Amino acid sequence: MLKAENLNVYYGAIHAIKDVSFEVNEGEIVTLIGANGAGKSTILKTVSGLLSTKTGGVTFMDQSLGKIPPHVIVEKGLAHVPEGRRVFTRMSVEENLEMGGYTQSKADNEKTMEEVYKLFPRLLERRKQVSGTLSGGEQQMLAMGRAMMSKPKLLMLDEPSMGLAPLLVEQIFEIIKSLNSVGTTILLVEQNAQMALSVADRGYVLETGSIISTGTGADLLASPIIKKAYLGG
Ligand code: ATP
Repeated sequence: MLKAENLNVYYGAIHAIKDVSFEVNEGEIVTLIGANGAGKSTILKTVSGLLSTKTGGVTFMDQSLGKIPPHVIVEKGLAHVPEGRRVFTRMSVEENLEMGGYTQSKADNEKTMEEVYKLFPRLLERRKQVSGTLSGGEQQMLAMGRAMMSKPKLLMLDEPSMGLAPLLVEQIFEIIKSLNSVGTTILLVEQNAQMALSVADRGYVLETGSIISTGTGADLLASPIIKKAYLGG
């Protein structure tokens, strides 16, 4: 479904992503794990068209995304929930969701919004609240709900567990699994390798811009090297 081949991304002279290739098949949860600064967010930004690669490229459903602007990539069914949530803080919860649905018709938006509220009852309770006053966990839910409004085939999540209390992290991961079980393919970037690998079909381990290991979630969880470097044991 998504195929990244031979990506090389630079910030000026900094070579942030080095010959990275990976793929995500329809229906999978795939995770990219790695320490701070390994290049995880840079990869997601490259896939969604916010950054460009010097070589290689990304195809989504057999179409090259090379010259396609980010908003058109969203229309094609690829949504990105950025790190740090980035909700529109002065707008209400409902207005944020409406913004996420700009690619869809009004009737579709009403239906999708109901589904989002079913998935996140907390957002329904808070629908008139200004988003800047939501808690971190609520903002994460809103950012995910807003991305769902574009009815993505593939949802990319950048560190959804960041800064959340353990109970909320569990909840967010349950929601990721249920989104996947109703047909959304997921590309998940996480520093919480334990949680990410336990929900993922497959994973890629990124170190200073290069993929150093790949395997099923279960295999990576069991790997002594991964345990030592990323799972605190
Ligand atoms: P984190 O989990 O801390 O967000 P990450 O794995 O997502 O880490 P990236 O944010 O992709 O890592 O950063 C990869 C490398 O690129 C880092 O060395 C970072 O300092 C550098 N980098 C990221 N954004 C920029 C930028 N706008 N300008 C220059 N260098 C950048």
